[in-house]
Amino acid sequence: MRENSIDISIIVPLYNEELVFEQLIQRLKGVISSTSFSCEVILVNDGSSDQTAELIEKICKEDNRFTGIILSRNYGHQLAVSAGLANVRGKRGAMIIDGDLQDPPELIINFYKLLIDGYDVIYAIRKNRKESFFKKKAYNLYYRLQKKISNFNIPIDSGDFSMISRRVVDNLNDMPEKSRYIRGMRAWIGFKQIGYEYDRDERQAGETKYSWSKLFELAFNGIFNFSDFPVRFIAKLGFLTVIFSLFYFVYNLYRKFYYNDVPQGFTATILAIILFSGVQLISLGIIGEYVLRIYNQVRNRPLFIIDKIIRKEESNLNNEA
Ligand code: UDP
Ligand code: MG
Repeated sequence: MRENSIDISIIVPLYNEELVFEQLIQRLKGVISSTSFSCEVILVNDGSSDQTAELIEKICKEDNRFTGIILSRNYGHQLAVSAGLANVRGKRGAMIIDGDLQDPPELIINFYKLLIDGYDVIYAIRKNRKESFFKKKAYNLYYRLQKKISNFNIPIDSGDFSMISRRVVDNLNDMPEKSRYIRGMRAWIGFKQIGYEYDRDERQAGETKYSWSKLFELAFNGIFNFSDFPVRFIAKLGFLTVIFSLFYFVYNLYRKFYYNDVPQGFTATILAIILFSGVQLISLGIIGEYVLRIYNQVRNRPLFIIDKIIRKEESNLNNEA
């Protein structure tokens, strides 16, 4: 596929998705054969331990509309998408979808229309989710919390499923931050953005690759990278605590002099110690999060390392990250 003939690159991060792979490729082929614009598909293997890499290699050697990017190990969803973004050849932009077909690739046609209408970011909004009750509640709470405390408006219930213009792709690639929360960075970039409501399907095969710990990491990035609230909150909390304790001290002096009935107060003392040790530990943890982020940034490691890029034609791209 000649590079300058590609309009849109579709980025699909894949981690142990051998069960859904065949179905995914069939759906994608159907979609990219039917569009009036030309598409390439970038399949990113995020260090899978199953047959995903081999399957990617096979399809990319057969069909020149598919490009495979094999990462050196598992870096996590956000970095797998970043690796795809760094290799977008589409001159009009890119679409990001999940590999498990929860995001219908057919929407590319509707998204593309909006792109042509002048929108730079078309982000999909999940009208309903087909996940467990508990997960739904957790997502719901998280997105609302994030919206409340973030420094600018990150749309509720939108994930990475989106189409972005070429200049947004370039801007994302130019952003040097190491802990990447793409939906936040995308919102931060600005330009004309529009939400597009859709019904999120169920995962078509296999199991979720987002463990609770990966979800927490994502949520932490969303909060600490896009909000000053936590670190400001502890300062306020500390301030209020001091004021409260001053009042309490004065009150106790008053009781002592006028009634002389200040109790021995062992329980209260222990309680205060435990409570404020907890507050201090949480505060240290919050400061630690910021320090960790500064450390990661200063250490300046590449975001990911590419093992190889697979294309049917001769490739002249190298391992730049
Ligand atoms: N994924 C990835 N690396 C990871 C975890 C997930 O590339 O470490 C991919 C996964 O293969 C899928 C997408 O990210 O294409 C979304 O993951 P998943 O569907 O498991 O998340 P969920 O929809 O359950 O939140
Ligand atoms: Mg999924």
